[in-house]
Amino acid sequence: MIKIQTKKKLGQHFLINETTAKLISNTFNGRNNILEIGPGMGVLTKYIHKNRSKIILIEIDLECVNYLNKIYKNIKIIHGDILKIKLENLFKENFSVISNLPYNISSQVFFKILESRDKIDHFTFMVQKEVGERICSKSGKKSYGILSVLIQIYFDMEYVFDVKPEDFNPPPRVISSVIKGVRNKRSDIGVSYSFLKSIVKNSFQNRRKTLRNSLKNLNLPQDFTSKKIFSKRAEQLVLNDFIWLSNEIKLLQ
Ligand code: SAM
Repeated sequence: MIKIQTKKKLGQHFLINETTAKLISNTFNGRNNILEIGPGMGVLTKYIHKNRSKIILIEIDLECVNYLNKIYKNIKIIHGDILKIKLENLFKENFSVISNLPYNISSQVFFKILESRDKIDHFTFMVQKEVGERICSKSGKKSYGILSVLIQIYFDMEYVFDVKPEDFNPPPRVISSVIKGVRNKRSDIGVSYSFLKSIVKNSFQNRRKTLRNSLKNLNLPQDFTSKKIFSKRAEQLVLNDFIWLSNEIKLLQ
């Protein structure tokens, strides 16, 4: 196998434990249309490409792209930055996403997944453990935040397993975790995604403040903010509270 010099700025930590690679691909439910983000040297690609109909790989590192092009003649490999590509245009039909994510852009990738939520059936991601916990966190926990709420409104999340640093070359300084998201049945929540996102972001802008204080900049009428829910902090709200809140605020505008 050709060796490439790993590039820290691209978050390159190549998975070298084959058992872990197999476990990740077994977790992945994608069938027909599959997007892999940052395939690197293809450690996951080789497991997911068996009997699958359409796979697209997006990789920013030309060295990796050249390497993969030699091995996978029938797979579409895009040399590009995942953050600059419109995901919903990649496939005509719905698709699933797999990635051992570059940790420096993981939050941005989750926001991209949310933008294309109606075309994504499933994703399996390896992320930094702390990010995995955050995405899967439930109301009432310290790790519950903006991405926990937005992702879980649209995807049923499962924290699958942890991966130790020694499974990578070079080893990252943190433990990693594999998480899985399956698109749920929520489609129309009554308000647009961008409106929901703005309310969730506003609510969490100062975690220690009550909702009444966090949402002060929205100038909501007093008879509305006197409701009990406004005495809670954002981290105490469940998913349906955020949906309810967004709908009520929209009606007031
Ligand atoms: N999938 C491989 C594995 O498990 O060994 C590589 C994982 S490595 C953590 C992350 C990969 O994402 C690298 O190959 C890196 O070059 C690529 N990458 C980093 N930033 C990217 C971006 N913005 N768009 C696409 N690929 C990116």
